[in-house]
Amino acid sequence: MFMPVFTRNPKEHAVFSSLDIVAVGGGSIGGTLIDILARTGVGSLTLIDPEDFAEENVGRHVLTGDSVGKSKVEELARHVARINPDCRVTALKERFDASLLSSRPDLVVSTADSFQAASLVNSYALREKIPAIFGGVWGEASVAEILYVLPGKTPCYECYGAFRRNVEIPPDTRRYTDPNYDETRIPGQAGLWANILMVAGLQFQVILGLVGLRDTLKYSGTVWLMNISDPNCPFQPLALTVGEVKKGCAVCDQGCLEELLRENLADNQSPDPSKFNPGEKMFEDTEEASRPLVKLSDVAFALETGACSLAMKHRRMRRLEAEVAKSDQRKS
Ligand SMILES: [Zn+2]
Repeated sequence: MFMPVFTRNPKEHAVFSSLDIVAVGGGSIGGTLIDILARTGVGSLTLIDPEDFAEENVGRHVLTGDSVGKSKVEELARHVARINPDCRVTALKERFDASLLSSRPDLVVSTADSFQAASLVNSYALREKIPAIFGGVWGEASVAEILYVLPGKTPCYECYGAFRRNVEIPPDTRRYTDPNYDETRIPGQAGLWANILMVAGLQFQVILGLVGLRDTLKYSGTVWLMNISDPNCPFQPLALTVGEVKKGCAVCDQGCLEELLRENLADNQSPDPSKFNPGEKMFEDTEEASRPLVKLSDVAFALETGACSLAMKHRRMRRLEAEVAKSDQRKS
């Protein structure tokens, strides 16, 4: 169908109008990307973000003062409708959870500033074999970081970002007042709107590659970094630095998981039953030995979301097995 709104981007409109895209995060970068996607004539958008739009967002967002105090996703849905009324928009004021999605989208765009959310998006994308793109900034939006994932073809988000699980995040007082506080979320940072526009624009270049409209993606270089305004950054200013991510986390590489299981089994060889001495104490009655079995919620979360790097999985599996062994010992 001819739509005069898209006369300046007919080729892109022809492709995007049939796409169903999920956007996780409706902050400054996410909101800008949603705006960009609406202007391409995207067919369907699902917007996911649990937060309300705050006054501090106005200086760095496509939304304006009249959205303050209202849900970011609902206000962004209204914004999209003003650009492209034919776009089907679903606004979900929630944290990302795969069960929120009733149908399989063509692409997932994550700009969530929480490791946990990005990790959940990653495992969903891998499971459903959907391309995903992750975008963010460092240091007052002075360096852009973009990573794309093509399940089965490229390393995943965990291959690249798992180190962030153990990175100390600056303290945020909301942890004391917000019952839904997410420990892995990076608190709001300063950073200029102009820089956000550059990050979102760059991220959109990757999206063009992912939907087949540009030949810009080299599958060996899946992380795109750009020094926008950091004088101390080793990257050349305003140039794209493409980085290689090594595939091999236990989340996306079944081979790693099998290797881990083999290692763990080798470490935990069953003792020879003929040498069993009922009087022998296997474990000291230390405080450690009498601790509850294991933080199951912790393990369940990690396994369910696939949210663990190789090393984390290794440590957790060892701990879990050790705890189970102790518990069996105590029972018998
Ligand atoms: Zn991986």
